[in-house]
Amino acid sequence: MLITLQEAAAKLRAAEKILVTAHVNPDGDAIGSTLAMLQILREMGKNVQVYIDDKIPRNFSVMPFEEEIRRPREDEKFDADLLVVLDTSTDRISEVAKLTDAPILNIDHHVTNRGGDFDLYVDADAAATCEIILQLARELGAKITTNIAVCLYTGIATDTGFFNYSNTRARTLHAAAELVELGVEPNLISEQMERRSYNDLKVMSAALDTTKFFYGGRVAGMFIDEELARIVDTTEGLVDLIRVIDGVDVAFLLTFKEKNVYRVSMRSKGVEVSDIARRLGGGGHVRAAGCTLNKSFDEAKRILIRTIGEFMIEQGYLRPAEYDNREEIALADFDANG
Ligand code: 5GP
Ligand code: MN
Repeated sequence: MLITLQEAAAKLRAAEKILVTAHVNPDGDAIGSTLAMLQILREMGKNVQVYIDDKIPRNFSVMPFEEEIRRPREDEKFDADLLVVLDTSTDRISEVAKLTDAPILNIDHHVTNRGGDFDLYVDADAAATCEIILQLARELGAKITTNIAVCLYTGIATDTGFFNYSNTRARTLHAAAELVELGVEPNLISEQMERRSYNDLKVMSAALDTTKFFYGGRVAGMFIDEELARIVDTTEGLVDLIRVIDGVDVAFLLTFKEKNVYRVSMRSKGVEVSDIARRLGGGGHVRAAGCTLNKSFDEAKRILIRTIGEFMIEQGYLRPAEYDNREEIALADFDANG
């Protein structure tokens, strides 16, 4: 059921023991929004705990209270009276779902979030869930400390590619300006977020070497297979490297997770990759989306490239004649090299 921001605030006020979570494969917005929420609710005297069922990339230690994020252990329970799910639909929280049967409050900014049999506040015009949490904090009359501001700023900055992407609106910059007034130092966050180990750079280079072009260069993809995955620490930012290539409309990264499980990350300059991801069981934003394919490497590649091509032709990004031709070329190309 869709609810208003005021109703969401009322749900939070009424709860006492609150479990806060966000999506697996967490990004700056997922972590920033949960940690801001943690602090806001604690300040209100609530008993709060954050759980995320994944590794937390080390760059995010710039956010206060990051060390408090727990990962659910097998058969663990958390006796909450509210489960707050941030920055995702409820199907991407993995084992956190098993911690509690508490009613769900879902707060998100993804257009693809269709909700379910629980309370959902969704604002698809918000650049980041952190932008919504800032509004919510005001609604709750919470004091926004510098620590909270750092978390919210990091989420907004990372979800907008540091104010580069098309989701950057005037309201986004107003929110960021307000957070800077509250004590955030943008250069320190940027420095921390762009930190890479030498190994990460070598992975970038190896990943770039796997780049292949499809459909006459309109689509570019990188492939992290099982072997390359062994040396990869984070895939953060990799797909953005090839999105910028002249003539490329859709960029993707296919990454080995485990046997017959591959993660897809897509980026575009306008093609609705959220729709492509949805066809493959995932979701996201118009220009940044993803999904998981439970297939072998070759099958995952084939299905992904075909689905992108079919979508682009249906939507008029590629001409049918071009497509017939290109699919053959594209598939022949990756079979030969892949
Ligand atoms: P990324 O490529 O950075 O992992 O994800 C890009 C965007 O797509 C993020 O906003 C993320 O939340 C969303 N996204 C990625 N993978 C999935 C998925 O499997 N399901 C859904 N619903 N959204 C996803
Ligand atoms: Mn987000």
